[in-house]
Amino acid sequence: MTQATDYLATIQATVAKRDPHQPEFQEAVGNFLKTITPVFEAHPEYIKANILGRITEPERAIQFQVAWQDDAGNMQVNRGFRVQFNSAIGPYKGGLRFHPSVNLSIVKFLGFEQIFKNALTGLPIGGGKGGADFNPKGKSDAEIMRFCQSFMIELQRHIGLDLDVPAGDIGVGGREVGYLYGMYKRLRGAERGILTGKGLSYGGSLARPEATGYGLIYYTEAMLKENGKRLAGKKIVVSGAGNVATYAIEKAQAYGATVITASDSNGYVVDPTGIDVARLRRIKEVQRGRMSDYADVVPTATYYEGSVWDADLTYDVALPCATQNEIDATQAKRLIDAGVIAVAEGANMPSTPEAIAAYAQAGVYYGPAKAANAGGVAVSALEMSQDSRRMSDSFETVDGQLKQIMETLFAQSVAAAAEYGVPGDYMAGANIAGFTKVADAMFAQGW
Ligand code: GLU
Repeated sequence: MTQATDYLATIQATVAKRDPHQPEFQEAVGNFLKTITPVFEAHPEYIKANILGRITEPERAIQFQVAWQDDAGNMQVNRGFRVQFNSAIGPYKGGLRFHPSVNLSIVKFLGFEQIFKNALTGLPIGGGKGGADFNPKGKSDAEIMRFCQSFMIELQRHIGLDLDVPAGDIGVGGREVGYLYGMYKRLRGAERGILTGKGLSYGGSLARPEATGYGLIYYTEAMLKENGKRLAGKKIVVSGAGNVATYAIEKAQAYGATVITASDSNGYVVDPTGIDVARLRRIKEVQRGRMSDYADVVPTATYYEGSVWDADLTYDVALPCATQNEIDATQAKRLIDAGVIAVAEGANMPSTPEAIAAYAQAGVYYGPAKAANAGGVAVSALEMSQDSRRMSDSFETVDGQLKQIMETLFAQSVAAAAEYGVPGDYMAGANIAGFTKVADAMFAQGW
């Protein structure tokens, strides 16, 4: 064992010992540590400064009670979180997730990933994440509003323009950000840049709703192009039907690919003629309906229960845009057998470590979440910049910057992988490029 491998093993063991009940956080740290040995071999000074010991422990983790009244007049209690992971390169930045599965492990895995994702965008934002174990499904607008207001009454004391700027994630979209911002404003006064993903009329950015999905496609096209291929003419399977999936489908089809699926937590639709994005948006955003409703109104679509990754389909590119660990080893094998040449992740950590190993073994081009889905947070940082300038940039300007950011971060991942002796490993490249930026900033600032 070299000094570097020894050090990395100690870090993983410390995390496992300190947080034995946080499997998702351990998984995210494990995926990361596996790829960065060469950095520590080249930079022993990072070992002495114990950069990894510091980067794997959040600078601050806040847990709070969210009490709110449901429509029947009953008091409900949920648990809220904000994890401020690392501020070496800028204020903490990352979304809020409202989902019954949310706990400290989930928020920490997301916050940890966010550190490197945000660094990769090239913009001055640190890593953070938050949320609550609240289930928005089936709740009325009034209940969502009261929950968001109660959540913000506590969160407002922990955030700030140069401190921590939240946004959306699963279960938190434009409606929720609006209610959160409204409450913040009543408590602290108008500060537009305090949240991103806002509505256009009160400081939001054009192209922010589209950004994660569009960015995923810009990244995927760059990855295919690097290997002499293109999205045009490809058959694609997308999971999810939220913001990320919807705009990934739209942009992939604009590039001449056919996206044949979309899914929710109950099931998926297959439409060999290509998913109709306008219909999908109407069902999801306006009617807040399910994928089964889509099949009811689109004659070419068929609805199936279960995971789309268990479907018996033939396709070229897989874009998981639903949630963590949605593709396990068996499902990875199925998609490889189905002929998939590339996987790019719109969701955060959708592939298990065994699935990632299977992609590598089969020579599938793999775009990890922290690079492939960085477009959302990148445009959030552009929204912060517009709010500071009190200006609104045009859709074309923001979309153009997004495309440039995604292409640059892919190129940097390629360069970092080559520099550290793992050419073609885009996961290692993303981890190394993101990490070295944060590590250099931490090193320069002392401790
Ligand atoms: N939740 C998104 C992510 O996973 C966006 C965060 C943001 O815009 O701050 O990166």
